[in-house]
Amino acid sequence: MTYVVTQACCNDATCVAVCPVNCIHPTPDEAQYARTEMLYIDPDTCIDCGACADVCPVEAIAPDSDLTPETEIYKDLNAAYFLGNPTVSGPTEVPKEPVVVAERPGPLRVAIVGSGPSAFYAAEELLKRRDIDVEVSMFERLPVVGGLVRFGVAPDHQTTKAVERVFARTAGRNGFRAFLGVEVGRDLSVDELLDHHHAVIHAGGASDDRKLGIPGEDLPGSFAAREFVAWYNGHPDYADRTFDLSGRRAVVIGNGNVALDVARILARDPERLVPGDIAEHALDVLRRSAIEEVVVLGRRGPEHGAFTTPELLALGSLPELDVTVHGGYDAPEGASIKLQTIAEYAHRRPQPGRRRITLRFQAAPVEILGGTRVEGLRIAPYGQAGPGEDLDASLVLRS
Ligand SMILES: Cc1cc2nc3c(=O)[nH]c(=O)nc-3n(C[C@H](O)[C@H](O)[C@H](O)COP(=O)(O)OP(=O)(O)OC[C@H]3O[C@@H](n4cnc5c(N)ncnc54)[C@H](O)[C@@H]3O)c2cc1C
Ligand code: SF4
Ligand code: SF4
Repeated sequence: MTYVVTQACCNDATCVAVCPVNCIHPTPDEAQYARTEMLYIDPDTCIDCGACADVCPVEAIAPDSDLTPETEIYKDLNAAYFLGNPTVSGPTEVPKEPVVVAERPGPLRVAIVGSGPSAFYAAEELLKRRDIDVEVSMFERLPVVGGLVRFGVAPDHQTTKAVERVFARTAGRNGFRAFLGVEVGRDLSVDELLDHHHAVIHAGGASDDRKLGIPGEDLPGSFAAREFVAWYNGHPDYADRTFDLSGRRAVVIGNGNVALDVARILARDPERLVPGDIAEHALDVLRRSAIEEVVVLGRRGPEHGAFTTPELLALGSLPELDVTVHGGYDAPEGASIKLQTIAEYAHRRPQPGRRRITLRFQAAPVEILGGTRVEGLRIAPYGQAGPGEDLDASLVLRS
């Protein structure tokens, strides 16, 4: 038997530290770390001890005997990484010299700005040390902690949100304090923080969007996916936004995981979102939605799809909606599991009366069309001049 990393993996490498035979890769010491879609377990080296599954914050690791028909493919996905990247798995070297920390009077006081994953993992690294006393003060501008785990991760991805349990453990450690509703830069300056702390760690995330720079982008009905996500996740700054879902088609520009998140939320049966923590105001609007198709646009071909394989697989396994590929697609021989999955979706037959997510490749946005609000989107093959094609749409989200 071997253990297998599955869909929810968020690459935090908690499992790497506990594996006695160093068979989970890429590790944070390897160049590929944070560049792969997830971490992978080497089936030839795993000794089946289960330590990784015990510590994974999002329950992404399972013994292969517990895989379901939907997750069975992760066995191949884990093994494939080691075929392409023969890594030396085996016991990690223990450093010979202990790390020496200079003595200082009193505890080390650290201020952390922000309360998302970066902030909590930094706090954990500091507070778990046994060689020095550390006090951490966390400052968060919102009334709740969690950052984008609370206000970004989709409400139907509750296993990912389970990482908040790890944050709660950190918050329970001696020396931890949090100040909520305090914005550094507005309520307190960095200099004021430095008057009372030895160091300040900035973990404020990234809150800006990029514009497309095409005509019509500011029409009502054209939004950043980030605004839509914050709205359905109940972010206090976005609660009063309105999203008109009375049209039949929405278009998401971009095809990364956030694009798949918003497409999924628009296309899913809202009742299946109820067990999650979606905002009630969003649920009301989604229940009245007339949207029949969500088109997810990628400028380049399927081989450049920015979504990860686990998110693509999860999308295609939802029972209440169809996933199709505009114009069809056949994967070349020896193609990755991602391309094989796209090809499989391309050959699916949509069922009448069901909502559909259409993956459309080789299509770049040229202009958002409409008089007083969004009525459509003009697209054209990426990098080619030409008349383009107009898609009717009442909602355009750039992601
Ligand atoms: C829509 C969406 C879906 C995602 N889904 C997933 C997923 O399924 N799986 C996954 O692994 N990752 C997912 N991610 C990525 C993940 O959420 C981010 O990588 C992660 O949250 C980044 O953590 P962070 O701590 O750097 O920043 P953030 O989570 O953004 O946290 C920053 C915090 O700092 C606070 N802050 C900012 N400025 C100040 C200030 N001046 N004073 C006080 N507080 C401040 C903010 O309010 C915020 O709470 C998703 C991201 C998005 C946008
Ligand atoms: S989410 Fe789980 S499987 Fe992925 S790196 Fe973290 S501990 Fe490992
Ligand atoms: S089950 Fe044990 S040996 Fe296998 S990957 Fe997990 S920690 Fe490593």
